[in-house]
Amino acid sequence: MLQVKNISFRYKKTEVLKNISFKVEKGEHFSIIGESGSGKSTLLKLLYGTYDLNNGQIFWKDKTILGPKHNLIIGPEYMKYVAQEFDLMPFITVGENIGAFLSNFYPEEKQKRINELLNVVELVAYKNTLVKELSGGQKQRVAIAKALAKQPEIILLDEPFSHIDNFKKQSLRRSLFKYLKEKQITCIVATHDKEDVLSYSDNMIVLHNAKIIANNTPHSLYKNPENKLIASFFGEFSEIENQILYAHQLKVTDKSNLKATVKSSYFKGNYYLIEAELNEEIVFFESKYRYDKNKNVFLKKVL
Ligand code: ADP
Ligand code: MG
Repeated sequence: MLQVKNISFRYKKTEVLKNISFKVEKGEHFSIIGESGSGKSTLLKLLYGTYDLNNGQIFWKDKTILGPKHNLIIGPEYMKYVAQEFDLMPFITVGENIGAFLSNFYPEEKQKRINELLNVVELVAYKNTLVKELSGGQKQRVAIAKALAKQPEIILLDEPFSHIDNFKKQSLRRSLFKYLKEKQITCIVATHDKEDVLSYSDNMIVLHNAKIIANNTPHSLYKNPENKLIASFFGEFSEIENQILYAHQLKVTDKSNLKATVKSSYFKGNYYLIEAELNEEIVFFESKYRYDKNKNVFLKKVL
């Protein structure tokens, strides 16, 4: 298991991470969320041993993960890290990039492994394409496959689907996360996308102001968002009578003491998201119908 014990880190003066502690079990899918600049990427880099810690320790099983001061080569051999800015060799093919870490001693096995991974990242048709001819999203998938080639015990993914379009994202996510679970590869994902977390993560942490402000299952944090930052990760919400309510937890009713004035209606496919004003605060609710601007409606909570 991975154990992070009271680590702190600063690039310059200000502390990016302060007294961070958490544990991740073998085979666990663990997410790191937080606003842009909250230190998600920095935390992944520290787990990989990219920088020396200012304080604290990181263990994988009984081994300490050390920074560059104590290590010639960055990154333990049992761990792989796929950065937001992935680095690939542009002038060789997709297949050759994925196989870059694999031995040429057993060429048949090597090709079998490359094909297996091309399947996982859904790039079978691109095996012989030069990487320089790929789109950003396709390169991101090659980088993931390359990281998996020599099966790591733990993989660190920094916003793994950020360059991948919505057409591909859903199926790729299912395919990759299913593969990691099957192989019991511990997976730590930094993300700002709730879709990466809700259906897949066993546990998640929320970074804010250099600290962990929540560490729990996605289910529990979704059901009881302790504050607005956590709620905003999961969707539009309103705060009414000190209660955080997601948009689907507010509905139009005939009469109530919650009278709101519609500001905008947004088409969402199977419903409209309505932005309205209630007691000079903005609230959001879901509705089957769109409403005109300035229409008055009464709302009720549906919990
Ligand atoms: P996130 O991934 O959550 O967006 P980062 O870990 O990239 O956040 O950044 C956290 C903070 O550290 C930001 O304020 C960022 O500007 C700063 N930072 C990141 N990388 C460096 C660096 N190499 N040198 C100095 N400051 C950095
Ligand atoms: Mg980042």
